[in-house]
Amino acid sequence: MRPLNAQIRLNNLRHNYQTLKKIHGNKLLAVLKADAYGHGAVRCAHALTDLADGFAVATAAEAVELREAGIENPIVLLEGVFDAGEYTLVDQYRLWPAVGSQWQLEALVAHDWQQPVDVWLKMDSGMHRAGFFPHNYAAAFTALKQCKNIGNIVKFSHFACADEPENGMTGMQLEAFDLACEGLAGEESLANSAAMLNVPAARRDWGRAGLALYGISPFGGLDERLRPVMRLTTRIFAERVLQPHSPIGYGATFYTSKSTRVGLIACGYADGYPRRASTNSPVAVEGKRSRVIGRVSMDMMTVELDAAQEGLGHEVELWGDTVNINEVAEAAGTIPYELMCNVKRAKFTYYE
Ligand SMILES: *Cc1c(COP(=O)(O)O)cnc(C)c1O
Repeated sequence: MRPLNAQIRLNNLRHNYQTLKKIHGNKLLAVLKADAYGHGAVRCAHALTDLADGFAVATAAEAVELREAGIENPIVLLEGVFDAGEYTLVDQYRLWPAVGSQWQLEALVAHDWQQPVDVWLKMDSGMHRAGFFPHNYAAAFTALKQCKNIGNIVKFSHFACADEPENGMTGMQLEAFDLACEGLAGEESLANSAAMLNVPAARRDWGRAGLALYGISPFGGLDERLRPVMRLTTRIFAERVLQPHSPIGYGATFYTSKSTRVGLIACGYADGYPRRASTNSPVAVEGKRSRVIGRVSMDMMTVELDAAQEGLGHEVELWGDTVNINEVAEAAGTIPYELMCNVKRAKFTYYE
């Protein structure tokens, strides 16, 4: 069988949840949108169900999948519904929808609720993507409050630049949020991973942990408090020695400068490995670091082996414990979120 493996260490997921909850304080949503950032939402939810104060997803379908799998924890729909009819699912499956625009609010108020619904009312504190402007927020809050089928209203907002510690925008968003919430009672939620780690003032009633929950630092580099959940590995299925001045791969973008041992590994861009990374992207051969040479192909790629390195049949880590996914993301000019969400064709194995 093709040896591309995604190892998902659920014990690390639990460790990260507990660590982040301690750092944030109060309650913490485990963000499981996009199939738990590519890790497998149902498996991750089951692994956290006894710990998690709640889960968060992007779509009603993602929430229904968790409910159908037996998950009873609260589930927040971070973007709310995409049409008014989805409130029927929200009601039936006891979901907590975000409300971030006027039509979502009006459709929610108009819906014939069978049971009270908790709502996450989103403020646009400066990201300018979704949410009520600060000057409209109290009116939206009051409109919901007056509706008899509404339970708790959680006031929330999202930061644009929390992963840039020097960026003043986070402080401005905090200020805008607090000003617009003056006099509005109830719980609040502001912090994503970066903010809960780095912005104490953003720790409110609920944190929302995504990237850090999967063990990855939102600031690039490594955070020793977190443990990577995913480990993506493959094997060397052929090796050879190339003479100096030999081109490798599509486009002949890399030439050997000396006699070079080359390992051929089963992973390519069709598996989600970023083609943009190519030459110099780090890998680890049986725990010893090396690099990709030449372009990443669709189904395979080539890695440099020194004379002492393990070869044919041995394991290559694409990211995980020796290779930080942040390094690969940087080599590819992207972010670790995108790499994790893109993994496909790998065999997923779950470790408790
Ligand atoms: C995805 C998402 C999060 C989680 O963000 P991370 O940076 O992965 O921690 C938090 N809040 C909202 C609204 C989101 O959409």
